[in-house]
Order: sequence, then C-alpha cells, then structure tokens
Amino acid sequence: MSTIKTGIIASEGIAIGRAYLFVKEKLEVDTRILEDGEIEGEVAKIQKAIADYSKDLENMEVSTETQQEVINAHLGMLDDPFLVDTVKNKIENNINAEKALHDSINEMVTMMQSLDDEYLRERATDYKDIGERLLYKLQGREPKKLSPLPKDTIVVSDELTPTDTSAMDKDNVLGFAMDNGGKTAHTSIIAQTLGIPALVGMKDVSVSVKDNDLLIMDTFEGKLYINPDEDTLNIYREKMEQILAEKERLEAVKFEKAITKDNHQVEIACNIGNIEDLKLGLANGAEGVGLFRTEFLYMENNHFPTEEEQFSVYKKAVELLEDKPLIIRTLDIGGDKSLSYFKFPEEENPFLGWRALRICFDMLDVFKTQLKAILRASAFGKVRILLPMVISVEEIKKVREILEEVKNDLKAKEIDFDTNIEIGIMVETPASVIVAEDLIKYVDYFSIGTNDLTQYVLAVDRGNEKISKLYNTYNPAVLRSIKKVIDAAHKADKWAGMCGGFAGDTKATKLLLGMGLDEFSAPAANIPKIKDIIINTTLEEASEFSEEILKLETTTEIEEVINNQ
Ligand code: PEP
Ligand code: MG
Repeated sequence: MSTIKTGIIASEGIAIGRAYLFVKEKLEVDTRILEDGEIEGEVAKIQKAIADYSKDLENMEVSTETQQEVINAHLGMLDDPFLVDTVKNKIENNINAEKALHDSINEMVTMMQSLDDEYLRERATDYKDIGERLLYKLQGREPKKLSPLPKDTIVVSDELTPTDTSAMDKDNVLGFAMDNGGKTAHTSIIAQTLGIPALVGMKDVSVSVKDNDLLIMDTFEGKLYINPDEDTLNIYREKMEQILAEKERLEAVKFEKAITKDNHQVEIACNIGNIEDLKLGLANGAEGVGLFRTEFLYMENNHFPTEEEQFSVYKKAVELLEDKPLIIRTLDIGGDKSLSYFKFPEEENPFLGWRALRICFDMLDVFKTQLKAILRASAFGKVRILLPMVISVEEIKKVREILEEVKNDLKAKEIDFDTNIEIGIMVETPASVIVAEDLIKYVDYFSIGTNDLTQYVLAVDRGNEKISKLYNTYNPAVLRSIKKVIDAAHKADKWAGMCGGFAGDTKATKLLLGMGLDEFSAPAANIPKIKDIIINTTLEEASEFSEEILKLETTTEIEEVINNQ
C-alpha cells in the first residue's frame, strides 16, 4: 500500500520522480547586549549584509520574467528604509545585529500574517526569506542550494521561498510539494508558469518524505503517493503514457486555425498576467491575448507602476505578438486583490465595493497613466482596451471622455498611437447582461468574464469554500446569460469573446461554439485541446448541442449531457 498525502492544488499535472528534500536548517541567532562602543560596528554589519545580498540578487542569472519580478520585489523590500531603520533602532538600543534583524523580521512577518488579505499574507514569506538570507550574510555562511539537481526531481520542502525557486535548476524539476503556501504564493505562480504540478499547504509532507523516496504527484486529484506499490505505479505509468501521447497528438494541431468541419472560424487566444505567460501562450498556439490582467503589474510592485514602466511591458507584449491582437484590461483591483503600497478602505462587501473602474474614476491620475501607456503601445501593433466590472452606459461614456483627454494630450505632444483603438467591456455583472443590447452600441466588442458573472448572477461568493458546490457556470441562469450576451453582440454586428475560466473548460468548448462565441481566451495549456475539439466538429452539430442544453432546467441535467458528450 502506498502512503498518500493530500494538499491544495497549486498547479495541475502528473509526475513520477524522486524526492529531493529541501528543508532549511534552523539558524541559531547570536544574542547579546552591546557595549555603546560596539553600536556603530553592528549598524555597519547590517548595512553591509543588505548591500551584499542586494548585489547577489542583482547578479543572479535570470531566465524568466517571473524570476525577475521576484528579484525586483526583494530588491524593493531591501531598499525600503523601514527595514534598515527598524533594525538600526534596535541596535541603537544595545541589541546586537543578528538579534535585531531576527526580531525585526519576526515582527514584520507576524504583522503581515495577521492581515485578512491572502496576497499580503503570502508576502510574509518574502520577508522571512530576506531575513534568512541576511542572517546567513551576518554569519558569513552560504545557504543550502537547489542547483544543480538530479534528473526527474520532485522538490519536497517545508517552505520554498521565491529566492529558492528563482535559483532552482528548473530543467530537472518535475514538481513541488510543500508543507506551507497557498494558491497565490509566488511558488505556486512559478509552478503554473513552468507547467509543472504543485501541491501546497500539505502541513507535514517534508517530515513524511525522505530523500530519494519514489513519488507520484497527481495534482488533478490533489494527491501525492509516497513509495507507491507496483500496481499504483503501473496505473500512473500508463496515465503518463496517455498524457504524453495526447500531448503529442495535440502538438500537431496547436498551430492550426480553429476552423470547424463546416468552415466556421473562431479565435483562440490566451490569458496572461505577464510576459512569461505570453511566451507560453504563443508556444501553445495562442492567436492573440484575450485578457492581459494588468493588476499583476500593480500587485507585484512597491508603487503604482509609472507610464514608462507599463509602456515597456505592453510594448514588449505587442512586439512578441507581431500582428496578433493584444487585449489589455484596465486596472481591476479591489475585491480580493489589494496593493501593498496603497491602503484600501475597510468594506463590508469588497466584491460589491470600491473596485476596478470605480477606483479608476476616483483616482484619475492612476487611470490616465495606464491609458497613456496602453495608447502608446498601440502604435506598435493591434491593441484593444477592455474595461472590467461595467454596469452602465454612463460608465462607458465617461471612459470615452477620459480617453479623449488622454488622446488629445498625446496628440499635443506628437506621440503616436492608434486613433481608432477598439474598446470592449467585460460582461461580468448581471446589469451588463440585462442591458447588453444598449451597452454594445457604445463598444466594439464584449468579453464575457464568467468568473465574476457566475458569482454575481448566482449570488455565490467565488472564494467561499462552504458554498463552492453552488458556484457552477453550468447553472442554466449563467448559461442563458452568456447566450443573451453573445446574441446582443451579433445583433449589432459585433463580436463576443470570453476570458473567464469557462472559456478554458474543454468540456464547455462545443457548447460555447454552438452558442456562437467568437473568441475563446484560455490558459496556455488548454489551447491545443480547445482547437482540437473545434476542428473535429461542425458548427451545425455544436448549435444543436447548445440548443438542447439551453432548454434544460437544472444544472444536474446539463452536467449529465456535458459529461456524456
Ligand atoms: C472574470 O471575472 O471572469 C475574469 C476573467 O476576471 P477575474 O477573474 O480577473 O476577475
Ligand atoms: Mg472579473
């Protein structure tokens, strides 16, 4: 019998490999009371440690955008006078540098871990990481490394910090299993970017697993098998073969156009949060970007990104896409997404509160800065603007007015941009579904955001585990909303896409095709499969299928038909 451990699924996949245990040794902290004459020397020690570690980070070999983002985040934290001032203050109270650093970091970590915000809680890990690295520096030692690694390694750790993963020998890593961490932790994001399975929040996996144990990760099921028996191993070897064969088969279609057997073409794009995701999307056959979640640029920074900072990212994306479209969503912050450098007001219902466009209208400088950066990037390729959380025609009119001002500003400065840049809205509120026929008159296209649409149509919080069974896009109320939106766009001779998670659900592909969806924007890994389904069906068959489903009255009946297609 195999030992099976479960965890939170941070990235889906299957892997068979050998465990590489990476558990950090406990660092002893030297504690003493300083003589007054020692204070200056101890302050100099901490300043040198910070300078040395910053230099290490600056010289680190970087192969991905995500690594660079982690390094930048750490450099930002090291540069923050708050850290050095807090430590200095303690030293000036006669506490030695090691102990002063240790206590300062602990205070920061405790404070951050007590916050309600999941994203900020995860950042506590970054502080712990920085604290550890600085302690090594103070002690003149080097920490254990994750590079080079043996082939086919599954890294098992109590906690993998962003710096650990940045310096990791990724070519030989098949998966991660961690005691700590949540879905939005840096390590989880890195695993998703690399396309390797990861389980986090496993509590004690680093105690249960020994170095070189044989492991199977099945993160579709959220399971880790430790030293599996021969039967289990054979089952998974077979599964791996099937996955590889399917992957190989799909390799052949990934760069094909998504055209049905009766000659109806749709566009398959990808969702991205950064340039790395775009590269992965293009490698998987994406025909454009249907959603650039720009809030990541804001969340992974320590200040509101400047026009230049944003422009350079958008321009890079446009250039990589060549003439393929890039849909940039304007800042969609608030709800569950916050910023480390900006205090949001306490709200009773943040998902119904001050978020997205509502914030942009109140912080016009921030909004105009982003619009300027987007417009400037539009001079280099096909860029479209996408507005989140729209509920009324007034909002679109207001954005158009603001956009005019920004355009005039650029014209006055003789800066190039696409004067006919297209504007679309995310249809993700019940209000926008109900008045879709009006809204479409003021925009060029719709992009349906099923993640929020499902939560708002059903009044089911998308992040609440207790009611997660009710959160289901196959609910007839949501499906009929989607159909209404697509029809409204078509009646006005415009197009409707989808960038919510439902577009990436390959069980829903035929249904959405039949409903008339024109563009699917999905995570990179799902693109080949979506194309494969479309290429192998007809629009006629898909339409009949969707008509049959739209008549059904219950989610159970709909899922039955979907599962038996
Ligand atoms: C959505 O709501 O479907 C969407 C794509 O936006 P987000 O998940 O970023 O809210
Ligand atoms: Mg949304």
